[in-house]
Amino acid sequence: MAMSCDHPDLLPLEEALQRLWEALPAPALPEVRAERDDPATDRAAMDGVALRAAEGRAPRRILGTLFAGDDPAAFTVTPGTAVRIMTGAALPSGADAIVPVEQLETAGDTVHPQVGPDSGDHVRLRGDQAKAGELLLPAGTPLNAARVGLLAQEGLTLPARRRIRVGVASTGDELVPAPARHQIRDSNGPMLAALAHALGAEVELRPALPDDPPALAAALRNPGDIRILLTSGGVSMGEHDHLPSVLKELGATILFHRIRLKPGKPMLAALLGDLLVLGLPGNPVSAYLNGLLFLSQALARLDGRAAPDPWRTARLVAAVRNRGDRPLLHPCRLVDGHLEPLPGKGSADLITLARADAFAWIEAPGRETGAKVRYVPIV
Ligand code: AMP
Ligand code: MG
Repeated sequence: MAMSCDHPDLLPLEEALQRLWEALPAPALPEVRAERDDPATDRAAMDGVALRAAEGRAPRRILGTLFAGDDPAAFTVTPGTAVRIMTGAALPSGADAIVPVEQLETAGDTVHPQVGPDSGDHVRLRGDQAKAGELLLPAGTPLNAARVGLLAQEGLTLPARRRIRVGVASTGDELVPAPARHQIRDSNGPMLAALAHALGAEVELRPALPDDPPALAAALRNPGDIRILLTSGGVSMGEHDHLPSVLKELGATILFHRIRLKPGKPMLAALLGDLLVLGLPGNPVSAYLNGLLFLSQALARLDGRAAPDPWRTARLVAAVRNRGDRPLLHPCRLVDGHLEPLPGKGSADLITLARADAFAWIEAPGRETGAKVRYVPIV
């Protein structure tokens, strides 16, 4: 029986992304509690003078200056006095308000407030943001830059972090630096290395691998100091598509192979020990799109971040028809926030990929126009 090209039972993209997420370990992140009251003392929130609000606009004699980090014990604000104070400095005893520089007139060592302050003006009160011991983030909260800052503030050390190392290796006997007419250059290698770099990985671009099972097995057995190997080609149904069988022979866990997406059906993900192998299809548009979607997901997980959501929405200004039974990612230009479809020539069309700003998601089977559709921007 002839098999349909588009199997309805292929793994949907979202499920493949989820499977990848769950198969990868995230760094163990501790719960974050306030180490001490935040702020730990009453603090100046403006540059100005610290004084006693009850004395209103009466002139004050300046006793000295407190900078952020100075011990305020050096001064006590008594009636008729004030202390110059900079943002972040601890309030001296006796003072209960700040009058900002902008609202002061100064004559010699005397200041004249131009406003009658209220107690607490421009002061960040001790414990205003958190009390010592308060839970700030539960254990396992995905990291982002702000949370890294908070961990540092509370004196917590993160698991050692460095950029995740990604090896990029194309496969294919047809890939040569100076191609005859029946050969091509390796465009996927540099493209995927640039993509991985743009996504924040540390990248090692390797020479292309031949379509030779022992050579592929040797490269997989000795991957070197990388966490992810990004290959392209050799995962489809051709007689030289050896990567799936070689991985199986090496005892790899195949997370999935073949997904419900056009282009990009042959996509493979596998774990070989700790090494994640993302076996991207060989055609450049498929390799790019799957690289973007799956590598972003893997890097976020391994880095302890939340799962990325690459999708945005915009109006598609001209019709795109999807005659197949896989969702279609169609190349578009973004013009004034609207998607203008490009006349793409399919998964081998690197020229259109290079001209595109985004790929619009067209459900299968279907036709989209006018309505808002989701799209993934090109990075
Ligand atoms: P494959 O899945 O290995 O059969 O590759 C599918 C198509 O993508 C073939 O036309 C290959 O020649 C092409 N291709 C594979 N790898 C690359 C590469 N690194 N650069 C450009 N094209 C490639
Ligand atoms: Mg090939």
